Amino acid sequence: MEPQRSPLLEVRGNIQLKRPPVKAPSRLPLPGTRFKRGPDQMEDALEPEKKRTRGLDTVTKIATSRPRAPALTTVPQTQGQTTAPKVPKKTGPRCSTAIATVLKNQKPGPAAPAQKPGAAAPVLGGRKPTKRPAWDLKGQLCDLNAELKCCRERTQTLDQENQQLQDQLREAQQQAKSLGAECRTLEEELARAQAQAEQGQQELGNLRARVLELEEQLGTQQGLVQELQKEQLGLQEERRGLAARLEEQERRLQASEAALSGSQAEVASLRQEATTQAALLVEQGERLHGLEMERRRLHNQLQELKGNIRVFCRVRPVLPGEPTPPPGFLLFPSGPGGPSDPPTRLSLSRSDERRGTLSGAPAPPTRHDFSFDRVFPPGSGQDEVFEEIAMLVQSALDGYPVCIFAYGQTGSGKTFTMEGGPGGDPQVEGLIPRALRHLFSVAQELGSQGWTYSFVASYVEIYNETVRDLLATGTRKGQGGECEIRRAGPGSEELTVTNARYVPVSCEKEVEALLHLAHQNRAVARTAQNERSSRSHSVFQLQISGEHAGRGLQCGAPLSLVDLAGSERLDPGLTLGPGERERLRETQAINSSLSTLGLVIMALSNKESHVPYRNSKLTYLLQNSLGGSAKMLMFVNISPLEENVSESLNSLRFASKVQLPPSPGPVRTPGWL
Ligand code: ADP
Ligand code: MG
Repeated sequence: MEPQRSPLLEVRGNIQLKRPPVKAPSRLPLPGTRFKRGPDQMEDALEPEKKRTRGLDTVTKIATSRPRAPALTTVPQTQGQTTAPKVPKKTGPRCSTAIATVLKNQKPGPAAPAQKPGAAAPVLGGRKPTKRPAWDLKGQLCDLNAELKCCRERTQTLDQENQQLQDQLREAQQQAKSLGAECRTLEEELARAQAQAEQGQQELGNLRARVLELEEQLGTQQGLVQELQKEQLGLQEERRGLAARLEEQERRLQASEAALSGSQAEVASLRQEATTQAALLVEQGERLHGLEMERRRLHNQLQELKGNIRVFCRVRPVLPGEPTPPPGFLLFPSGPGGPSDPPTRLSLSRSDERRGTLSGAPAPPTRHDFSFDRVFPPGSGQDEVFEEIAMLVQSALDGYPVCIFAYGQTGSGKTFTMEGGPGGDPQVEGLIPRALRHLFSVAQELGSQGWTYSFVASYVEIYNETVRDLLATGTRKGQGGECEIRRAGPGSEELTVTNARYVPVSCEKEVEALLHLAHQNRAVARTAQNERSSRSHSVFQLQISGEHAGRGLQCGAPLSLVDLAGSERLDPGLTLGPGERERLRETQAINSSLSTLGLVIMALSNKESHVPYRNSKLTYLLQNSLGGSAKMLMFVNISPLEENVSESLNSLRFASKVQLPPSPGPVRTPGWL
């Protein structure tokens, strides 16, 4: 077993540590440790030993207080047990061990004598002394003297040891004192350290809370960072896409720039060419204008050569359900150029039953031949008819007044010729829509030469010498109205119909709408007894105004398209009832106005000084479209039926009267404003 260390040795060992660090745990005073007792207690602990040392006057006493070296422990065990004094409990084995430790360092002295003389022989040099006989007193005395001498020496040595131990004790006390001071310092330090530790704990708590808070913030920030990273990835992807696009755009731009530079060079050359062309264009424009004026002049000359007053005869076809006329009733002899020439002649046969031959047989039919500027047999289409008058429409645009009439008995095809057939079939469109379409298209073409045209339409009806607006709308629709023909202003040549609508038009659709409205207005006025549309003159007028702003030129002329009232006479044998009397008045009014028209045309043809325009509302309204350089065309519409032969002859005779053979006369100037 390991021997237990004495307190003194522990103290010495501690001192030899040479002031270890203050905060080392081994230096801290621990409860229940020996050091806490202090130096006084230490002395107390050593007290019994001291006392024993002081009172040592015999070898026996010392020898029994502690075990000896083997050389000295020669006393038999039984004797030792009986003679050895009891060690005080207070000293304990530790104290004796301490002394033993001190003694161990000393030289071994002479063997101590036995506790009881004679009880045991002295042990010298480790050899068992030979027992002297009782009689050897001298020898025994000698042994005792030697033993005494040895004890004295031993006493001397023990004194020295004692002295040394006291020195060591003092030194240990001093060390204990300094250790106590050091301990207090350390305690203070400990207190401070504890306070610091508490403060540290508090700070640590705060810091932990802060750490938690920061960790929370960190979590949020990390989430944010992750989001931002994701966003960054997205943006990087987008950036890559954009970069690729940019590259592509740059590539295209380069290509475009290359193309642009090529184009710029081309543009420069084109500009130069354009300048040349512009100069040429101006020159051409000048030339074109000259040619246009020349064309107008020649066109007009041609029209005048053809005659300012022309008459066309149109025979309508036999309608389903009508009796077929006898063969040879109407003939269309060829012109001087043969069948290829457009027909200009018409031959009508009339059998007169009142006339008879001497033999009593019926007289052969009388042939009536007529010649006109153009004759349209029943098979002629609307387009064919329009071709002939398209030239007159051109004259209207050139600034010459144009007036086209449709004359004939009721049912001869006047309305068909002027407005067209039923059902809106483009094939049977009449002259009015065709003429207007032509006007709009030619006006547009002339626009490229600097001309701008505007058109204003009016549509009136003259019945029994009263004027009614066919374009009336709203409350005035279908009513007679109070329309009067007046001069546009004092001293003005222009005529206007009061209370009538003058509607600007610029396209076919607008004209179609107007014709439709006029048709509705006529239907409202119609009664069972009185088919008024046949008993009235319908006058469609279009005021054309042209302007060439670049040259300061203006031209204007009216284009009039007139569907005249039926030219038939009242049967003289008819008994006059109230309805017939009214009819008679109508007829007289119609005949009067148609006669006036004939007279006016004849006066114009004969260049008479007085033209009786004022004799009828119709001629009064049309006076600006008839005189001077105006072009007039009359369609004589003829029924193909034999039963209408009398009226057909009347119409043909009327038309023949107004027609004069074309004369080359002086070329008239156009109606420039
Ligand atoms: P008006 O106006 O002279 O009284 P309309 O124009 O009303 O005569 O014609 C009478 C009938 O004859 C109408 O049914 C019309 O469609 C028809 N008609 C007239 N001329 C032609 C023609 N050239 N071709 C076919 N039908 C015609
Ligand atoms: Mg009619």
